[in-house]
Amino acid sequence: MLATVLHAPGDIRVEKVPDPQIQMPTDAIIRVIVTCICGSDLWPYRGLDQIGPEGRRIGHEAIGVVEEVGRDVHTLKPGDWVLMPFCFSDGTCEFCQEGLHTACIHKGFFGGQVDGAQAEAVRIPFADGTLYKLAEPADENLLPHLLTLTDVMGTGYHAAKTARVMPGKTVAVVGDGAVALCGVIAAKKLGAERIILLGRHPNRIALAQKFGATDIVSERGETAVARVKEITGGWGAHAVLECVGTELALQTAVQITRPGGSIGRVGVPHHQGIPADITFYNNIFIGGGPAPTRAYMDILLPDILAGKILPGLVFDLSLSLQEIAKGYRAMDERQAIKVLIKP
Ligand SMILES: [Zn+2]
Ligand SMILES: [Zn+2]
Repeated sequence: MLATVLHAPGDIRVEKVPDPQIQMPTDAIIRVIVTCICGSDLWPYRGLDQIGPEGRRIGHEAIGVVEEVGRDVHTLKPGDWVLMPFCFSDGTCEFCQEGLHTACIHKGFFGGQVDGAQAEAVRIPFADGTLYKLAEPADENLLPHLLTLTDVMGTGYHAAKTARVMPGKTVAVVGDGAVALCGVIAAKKLGAERIILLGRHPNRIALAQKFGATDIVSERGETAVARVKEITGGWGAHAVLECVGTELALQTAVQITRPGGSIGRVGVPHHQGIPADITFYNNIFIGGGPAPTRAYMDILLPDILAGKILPGLVFDLSLSLQEIAKGYRAMDERQAIKVLIKP
């Protein structure tokens, strides 16, 4: 089959690799219908994350059709349509039962511990626990929206939940990538009255406004902080969604959180520090982490099926698997928000 292999920073290729095989009785193999490139794939692409000497089989978001199941897989059969969350999990341990699948005692990440999804097929560990079965084959028009449930929409929702967004509150979203834009959708769903997006690119701003952002702050650093304070009567937002992962983004987030407010962090941190003074003296609650997107599928899928939310609009470029290098370049240069890939 064909799969994407990241060999070195900027060097990404589609290559012929051995077909995935069932290795454990709890495995399944899925044929990929759609997959996509994630903002977090850009970290290794830019040389800021490990790649490994053999290259990295990257990608962690997919909708697929089950091709084969191991003898201990009981809830799935060949032909089932499934959503593949970015993290695999057994579905049975105490953390899975509490809905925190990303803390599963058997967890791992696609494109990390196991081969990635930017390929024609993927091996799925703990298939019963990991995969989310769709009631029927997905309609072509719904595919982009459903695909966001495997990561960005679930992650944006996690940011909003852990930032404790509640009806009537003011929310600020740091970032204008796909997760941040989905964070706007989530904040609106949870009843936020005012949603301030910190972002600069005109097409992303337009989408944020379509999703429910009421205010846009395009300045950066101190000026951005001053603008948000001005909009919020001097005190900052009740809930802040940090959807970037850089030190500057976190610094901005803590400075625009009002005393007693909360931050939901979902940008993968590529720095060490959480500012101690301001978070302590302002009683700021800091939550967030890898989103248990598997748990949120039950909550968000009905909204998509009913056409209430349209998170798939974050895909503004669609390419074939063979063209994937072009997709990485487009995202790296911020020419595209998020790229859909059809094997
Ligand atoms: Zn992702
Ligand atoms: Zn578990």
